[in-house]
Amino acid sequence: AKTLGRNAYSFFTKEMNTAMIRRFEVEEQMRNALERDEFEVFYQPQFDSKTQKVIGAEALLRWHNPALGNIFPDEFIPIAEQTGLIVPIGQYVINESLNFLSSWQAQQNGDFVMAVNLSPRQFRDKKLLKVIKKALKNANLSPDNLELEITEGVLMTGQSYITEALIELQELGVKLSMDDFGTGYSSLSYLRQYHFDVLKVDRSFVNGITINKEDRDLVKASIAIAHSLGLKVVAEGVEISEQLNILNELGCDYVQGYYFSKPMPGQKFLDYTENYRLE
Ligand code: C2E
Ligand code: CA
Ligand code: CA
Ligand code: CA
Repeated sequence: AKTLGRNAYSFFTKEMNTAMIRRFEVEEQMRNALERDEFEVFYQPQFDSKTQKVIGAEALLRWHNPALGNIFPDEFIPIAEQTGLIVPIGQYVINESLNFLSSWQAQQNGDFVMAVNLSPRQFRDKKLLKVIKKALKNANLSPDNLELEITEGVLMTGQSYITEALIELQELGVKLSMDDFGTGYSSLSYLRQYHFDVLKVDRSFVNGITINKEDRDLVKASIAIAHSLGLKVVAEGVEISEQLNILNELGCDYVQGYYFSKPMPGQKFLDYTENYRLE
């Protein structure tokens, strides 16, 4: 038993070592990734569930590194968050996506919304509001063209600078969206406390609505709550037409997911939306 115990122990440390080395490498590579221009913003269209017209897009960050290959946000965003690198990287996403929105609107003569994800750490940056104002001005956009997606994690810290930043952003006229709704503990109280414009039903619930009554009831209740508070509802992760049909029956306002399209590079997105309009 003693030998087995030791083996189990060394196996464990080996796994831990591999994970630590990987994390270290990712962090090292990330330090210069902006200067080396390794990031790219992809765009996933959002649709009006009834008319199925494109109403906007979510900006989703991609990173290609010569040494590590493609690294996905679920891996690198938490590291960017812990190291503080999310601040300059997040600024890049804001600038890039708003400039893109500006060309998209000019090309297709429309009025769209760009949804940008914000991490908790970005709120600690005193320049956040300035960066957003400047990016909107440079891209010649009005504040309501920008929607900031925030998860409960941001609000849960209870820090006063976060409350202050959210109020300032609201006063500026930027839209606020609660991301991953239903996955946390106290989403409801946050909806009351802050004036969100949009509620995003988490993919995990959308996933189950065709097969699972509990998920369908939960989505139904989320939509009812959102509408009673004057919020619009976006369902993310829509993959099949049956999900879309149920979401429509439940009165969901907007949808997003692989059923329509995966996130795409800018040029591909422009081609897609241009041709989609003609259908
Ligand atoms: P999220 O904000 O919940 O974004 C939705 C994720 O679901 C995206 O993954 C998107 O590609 C994926 N998705 C969209 N439709 C479908 C579908 O129909 N089926 C499935 N299975 N997945 C779908 P992605 O791009 O890998 O991003 C993962 C997470 O990383 C995001 O989750 C977000 O929390 C974070 N993230 C991505 N870009 C940024 C960024 O620029 N800044 C910050 N702070 N976080 C980001
Ligand atoms: Ca999001
Ligand atoms: Ca989400
Ligand atoms: Ca998520």
